[in-house]
Amino acid sequence: MTADDATPSRVPVRAELDDVVPYGAPQADVAVRLNTNETAEPPPREFLAAAAARIEALDLHRYPDREHVALRAALARRHNCDVDQVWAANGSNEILLELLQVYGGPGRQAVVFRPSYSMYPELCRTAMTPVIEIDLDDDFAYSADTIDAACAAQPDVIILASPNNPVGTVVDASTVRALHERTAALIVVDEAYIDFAPERSMSPLLETLPRLVLVRTFSKAFRLAGARLGYLVARPWVVDDVQKVRLPYHLSAVTQTIGELALANESSFLAHRAEVAAERDCLASALAQLPDVEVFASAANFLLVRTGRDDVFHELFARGVLVRDFATRPRLTGCIRVTIGTPAENAAFLAAFREILGAPTT
Ligand code: PMP
Repeated sequence: MTADDATPSRVPVRAELDDVVPYGAPQADVAVRLNTNETAEPPPREFLAAAAARIEALDLHRYPDREHVALRAALARRHNCDVDQVWAANGSNEILLELLQVYGGPGRQAVVFRPSYSMYPELCRTAMTPVIEIDLDDDFAYSADTIDAACAAQPDVIILASPNNPVGTVVDASTVRALHERTAALIVVDEAYIDFAPERSMSPLLETLPRLVLVRTFSKAFRLAGARLGYLVARPWVVDDVQKVRLPYHLSAVTQTIGELALANESSFLAHRAEVAAERDCLASALAQLPDVEVFASAANFLLVRTGRDDVFHELFARGVLVRDFATRPRLTGCIRVTIGTPAENAAFLAAFREILGAPTT
């Protein structure tokens, strides 16, 4: 045996990562990409020129403002709250991870619901936080049983999405209030898609529920998935606590600048929302007319569609249309999720979908 054989050539991962497949929707190069709930329309052109000029003027040889005060001030104006109530990071995923690192961890308990955003259990695992997944009822709503089960787990952190991904349903204030009243947990409402249904935000509850945290992102309605920017709104103690786990200078000067510009031009960034909602409703009614197809009501920029078949994703892919496949996922068998794209993309999806189901093409 040589000296080399005697020393291991690699280090094993920690045991709970052994069988982990890295998370991520396929990034395939196809004509119609409707699988990751981005906005199909790019940000307004004039903004891109302004962003380039601002980025050129940055002192990139210096670290960025660690506290990203200018961006937080703009976010605070948006939410009519104080600067010390907002905190931003590289996408809402990083915000969720920070919250779990602070309030979860070994010996703590997180509760999430099913079906919901499948990153939640993964983030819990990364933050070494035991997690219980509680089933929503058959309509994907928060029934009394669901709420009872969540409270019985005596969680330290509860995470729910509203609108929920992949269903599109929004949570009621009464559910959030009940979870807050009946537990001592941090109640995290992930409002990644709420800019498509702003009147359903839980933000009015921030005033009365001290352990409520809202998580937002620029990746969906703001059309800035490529910029990687998310944030939270909460009581100042949450922002203080998050400092304990944040990396120094985590938010690049480029990201901060893009966020500030987007907030200064919010109405043009969000101007496409009405068109997305109209396209969504039009697609939903066209799909609902097809035999043996169930479409779930959605307040977001996607639709969950049940056909009962498990080959629809692959058949669509073969026709150059990429959607999200949930066909074999518990509670979602026979389902796909389709992001609302441009009118042409939606039409291409519908035509391919009809062809696969053997439905007439008009
Ligand atoms: N929450 C939900 C419910 C999502 O669907 C997504 C993205 N698919 C995220 C959070 C993460 O978004 P990002 O990290 O891009 O802000």
